[in-house]
Amino acid sequence: MTRRFVLFVLAAMFVAAPACADDKLKAVASISIIGDLVKSVGVDRVDVTTLIGPNSDAHVFSPTPSDAKTLGAAKAVFINGMGLEGWITRLIAAAGTKATPVVVSAGITPRQAEEGGHHTIDPHAWQSVANVKIYVANIRDGLKKADPAGAATYDASAKAYLGKLDVLEREVRETIGKIPPDRRKIITTHDAFGYFGQAYGVQFIAPLGVSADSEPSARDVARIIAQVKRQKIPAVFMENISDPRMMQQIARETGARIGGTLYSDALSDAAGPAGTYLDMMRSNLRELAKALAP
Ligand SMILES: [Zn+2]
Repeated sequence: MTRRFVLFVLAAMFVAAPACADDKLKAVASISIIGDLVKSVGVDRVDVTTLIGPNSDAHVFSPTPSDAKTLGAAKAVFINGMGLEGWITRLIAAAGTKATPVVVSAGITPRQAEEGGHHTIDPHAWQSVANVKIYVANIRDGLKKADPAGAATYDASAKAYLGKLDVLEREVRETIGKIPPDRRKIITTHDAFGYFGQAYGVQFIAPLGVSADSEPSARDVARIIAQVKRQKIPAVFMENISDPRMMQQIARETGARIGGTLYSDALSDAAGPAGTYLDMMRSNLRELAKALAP
């Protein structure tokens, strides 16, 4: 073998060798939606663990010692920010990690919401596709910083994923555009779809505030029932993370149609209809179109 050929073989082996699990960048994401985005940008260079799994409520999460261990082993940490992960500072201290969390919502204009009579920031920015483009750019930059050798991979996969988000965004606008404007009104359990409503022109009304961690009073439910009747709201929706009984009561007493499940703060498991962010948005869109059709 010539020396040049040996070099060629070595170079080919180096390029073709798949990274084994231990070589991968260990990343942690707070919620399943962000975990899926990190996977989409990190592809085979990154090993992603999600702290709050599918169908789980981020608003009532309390980390365990095993979460601290997971975080301690991570080289990159991705959180939503906007007050969603109130526990992160304590968990980082417990984990003793030096990884600074990447706040994937950085650069997004926050939506103000009202809860219990005072103003708060709505953390559910991922319900607007335009915002998720910013999430993806922040994730790409975070991965490049943690793993500069993978920069070209992260640039390419982020670019490809942003193209998929463009397609999704067009689908959302087209589908909502076909619903008569006076029917674009929905009740959901908690105030998780404000960014979707703002971006695409749908009105969402929720008995619970943005954090879903309180029980609505009988008076709250009575107020919603009166509002559904008065505004002729066509449909009420369940969420995958909430108790369906209150929504069933509202539907019973108003005659509003019960829509399917909307995925608000968490994906479904992989076998379900919302195993990825793109599938989640399409599943929600299908359910909205079905329930709001005249
Ligand atoms: Zn929520």
